[in-house]
Amino acid sequence: MQKDTLVFDLINKELDRQRNGIELIASENFTSLQVMQAMGTVPTNKYAEGYPGKRYYGGCEVVDEIETLAIERLKKVFNCSWANVQPHSGAQANGAVFLAVMKPGEKFLGLDLSMGGHLTHGSPANFSGKTYHALHYGVTKDGIVDYEQLEAIARSEKPKMIICGASAYSRDWDYKRIRAVADEIGAVVFADIAHPAGLIAAGLLNDPFDHCHIVSSTTHKTLRGPRGGIIMLRHDFENPWALKDPKGNLRMMSSLLDLAVFPGTQGGPLEHVIAAKAVAFGEILDGSFKAYGQQVIANAQAMAKALVARGYQLISGGTDNHLMLIDLRNKNLTGKKAQETLDKAHITLNKNAVPFDDKSPFVTSGIRIGVPAVTTRGMKEADMETVVSMIDKVLMNADDEAVIASVKIEVREFMQQFPLYPELG
Ligand SMILES: *Cc1c(COP(=O)(O)O)cnc(C)c1O
Repeated sequence: MQKDTLVFDLINKELDRQRNGIELIASENFTSLQVMQAMGTVPTNKYAEGYPGKRYYGGCEVVDEIETLAIERLKKVFNCSWANVQPHSGAQANGAVFLAVMKPGEKFLGLDLSMGGHLTHGSPANFSGKTYHALHYGVTKDGIVDYEQLEAIARSEKPKMIICGASAYSRDWDYKRIRAVADEIGAVVFADIAHPAGLIAAGLLNDPFDHCHIVSSTTHKTLRGPRGGIIMLRHDFENPWALKDPKGNLRMMSSLLDLAVFPGTQGGPLEHVIAAKAVAFGEILDGSFKAYGQQVIANAQAMAKALVARGYQLISGGTDNHLMLIDLRNKNLTGKKAQETLDKAHITLNKNAVPFDDKSPFVTSGIRIGVPAVTTRGMKEADMETVVSMIDKVLMNADDEAVIASVKIEVREFMQQFPLYPELG
């Protein structure tokens, strides 16, 4: 058979785009070549519904070893006692957590999407908001999670689950404080660490496992693995509200979560992706990952400083992690205009609502910037200054096509210093 050049030419075009641009989308990263190589392999052919040792199909002895290796490595990464590596994505992982903990119509409390939360934390457009009764806390005028509001809503509404975690929040979380109010009302604390997971794995942020009952994450953001989701427990526990098993015993949360992933919300697992997850977890355990995490934080600090020096307003005034949210209203720009203009210069980021935004989610007053991807490319603190100067030049000349075109050339030249997948030719 002939190679499908139509598709492979497009894939090569995407490789060129990734190589020649500055990638600042906070949720993106570049996996190692090994992670990608593992994904394009034969376990993709295998049906393996069920779990290692308990499958519904024959011939699973090898994929059992792959999945067990991924689980064992992940348990080491986060020092936890149980993990499920099958969720196809972060949203799927969260869907399974809801299914394991909540019955339709029951109340839960999460960070509002417009304040930095995620769709799966109760957006009316998402299953979480449609199926369950979503309550929301926000951030204060200073851009910090409003713990007092969280506690007040928790005490008055008594939700069954409190979610901490966000997609556009640049500060660390006070998990201990959330657990304290959850214990008052008997709620489950669920941490969705999709964004900062890699920094937590590197021991550079507060450890949610110290205080949260259940933790989910994506594997493709700061963890630098293939696209996917995971669910973890440090301490297994009995879910007091769950249906009892046929012998009348309460089920353990680990078994409810396994059931909620399969058969609850998914069919066959993606064993080729699970193989790639195992490779990524191995890379995290190999010792150099902590230095990566430290560089991510150093770069984010340098980027924040360079932006503030040019008069940009950062929500909460700075960052503890890998990202920052910028309110562009003092620069007379919308998030949409900024994203579209920077895109023309091959600087990629996303528009983002800022807390108390007066513009629609399609326009927004802000942009979100993250440094995990450029840090993987090899950038250091001094390079953040260069990147910010290019961003500023584009934004301050947003209607001058000649300036934008010149920055696009600068970007391309600058990125030649940071080779991406040279092995791919
Ligand atoms: C990215 C993200 C998710 C969802 O991940 P997908 O893999 O895109 O489904 C879930 N929760 C949070 C907080 C996220 O940032």
